[in-house]
Amino acid sequence: MAGTISPTEKVFLPGSPHYEQLRKAFINANVPAKYPREIHRPICVQDVIAAVNRAKELGIPIGVRSGGHLFTCMSLWQDGLLIDTSNLNRQVEYEEKTQTITYGPAVRVCEISEKLEKLGRFFPHGHAPSVAMGGFTLAGGQGFFMRGWGATVDQWVTELEVVVPDGSLIRANASENADVFWAARGSGQGFFGVVTKFCARTISARKFYQRQRTFSIGPNGKLFNEVLTLAIEQNEKTPKYGTEVAVCTFFPEKFNPTIEGDEISEPSSLMMSITAAAYVDSISEAETLLSAFDYVPDGLAEVVAGPAPVILKSWKEVFQEQDMLVPYGNGEIWHIDSILNDPSIPLPEMIEAIKPSQTQLPTRQSVGVIYIGDTYPDVGKMAFSLPQQYYISTFTCTKNPTKIPALRNWMKNVYREAEKVACGMYVADYDITFRKSKVMTDSAFERFIKIRDKWDPECRFPLTLE
Ligand SMILES: Cc1cc2nc3c(=O)[nH]c(=O)nc-3n(C[C@H](O)[C@H](O)[C@H](O)COP(=O)(O)OP(=O)(O)OC[C@H]3O[C@@H](n4cnc5c(N)ncnc54)[C@H](O)[C@@H]3O)c2cc1C
Repeated sequence: MAGTISPTEKVFLPGSPHYEQLRKAFINANVPAKYPREIHRPICVQDVIAAVNRAKELGIPIGVRSGGHLFTCMSLWQDGLLIDTSNLNRQVEYEEKTQTITYGPAVRVCEISEKLEKLGRFFPHGHAPSVAMGGFTLAGGQGFFMRGWGATVDQWVTELEVVVPDGSLIRANASENADVFWAARGSGQGFFGVVTKFCARTISARKFYQRQRTFSIGPNGKLFNEVLTLAIEQNEKTPKYGTEVAVCTFFPEKFNPTIEGDEISEPSSLMMSITAAAYVDSISEAETLLSAFDYVPDGLAEVVAGPAPVILKSWKEVFQEQDMLVPYGNGEIWHIDSILNDPSIPLPEMIEAIKPSQTQLPTRQSVGVIYIGDTYPDVGKMAFSLPQQYYISTFTCTKNPTKIPALRNWMKNVYREAEKVACGMYVADYDITFRKSKVMTDSAFERFIKIRDKWDPECRFPLTLE
């Protein structure tokens, strides 16, 4: 819908024809009643500078939106100024000599993937096709194959171009404005500027292979502990580079297109899938790397839903599956909460604490997602500093707004248990109004606040972290 607005229209005021359409351009249908005084859609850096200066002149807060995937719509500020980067540098450029790409903040995961495929290159973008690279990169980036290659901002992103709160354009990298470079990589919604361009390394493209085994774990997720333990143990036996493992819980009715509404037929068994992927040159390499997942213990053999061969997948197929997991655009109201586990807590204790969040899903479309990050960042290197051994999340979904309070209540209860085994949470899911959590280590957060205070003393970009 937003694509029908002419790119030459750059400023939208309340009451103007496209204002409401743009205000609501988030994937979550539950957009809060917050009305920015102006919405700006820059097409070049000069427009971004003008927007930042305009907010300064009016003395109002700035919110920045790239793909609108933050379910909380944190970029909307009542009487603030929203900068929507949809038309800004919406391209991916490749420099052969350095094998690097530059991309604008609103470039979607599927767009960068398509471009890289044509170039025969790869860089670890996110999993869901419609997520924009702006929000993804600033959060740190749980990109494909993170367990071997780390967060996307770590080894891959080399430079940013940013309009900072005083309205000037700077370059931030390891040697120039290094403090901004440090702060931008992992502060997500807490970042204090408008990123207009990112620069990143790439490697040669390979092929995507996947094997997925699904288990029927009973109405109350009786076999959850056994299946998750299996996934974790086999993950540990799997070589780290070019592989990844994720676990999902869902109702079989989730993917049935003939069923509408939130209700779940009784009794319905919960399903649990272990998805392992490898990024290599041939199926035999993939089979070798993913061979730990041949094993199924006796106790689980009778609840396995079919064989799990290694198969070649196109990016298009991978993205279709992601879209089925979190559909949007038809009134879906999403809510997410998540934790990053504290690696010092023993596995059985961790599994018990997260079990309700993964097995007591409150609606048909809800889904539990555990991504094995296996990542332990160097805390001095960037704001992205918490260990991401296991990312444990729950997405709830309804189309009925009257159910929101009950669903939020459910989420509060299950994450009250889960947070007992947490070291914090991924900044991409943080909602300061819902549940307080660490999004960086204490020392990283202290450093982040000092850098923020230096660059944004007037708090033009309000802080939504604590
Ligand atoms: C279905 C789904 C799948 C996901 N999969 C992954 C995944 O695989 N890996 C992963 O790491 N994350 C994933 N995420 C989380 C996602 O990366 C974050 O929600 C991210 O913030 C979304 O970015 P966006 O630009 O689309 O959203 P937006 O809501 O537009 O942006 C989020 C926030 O980022 C900041 N921001 C955005 N653009 C800019 C900019 N140009 N300059 C300054 N600040 C900016 C703003 O504070 C904004 O509020 C997923 C989310 C969803 C909904």
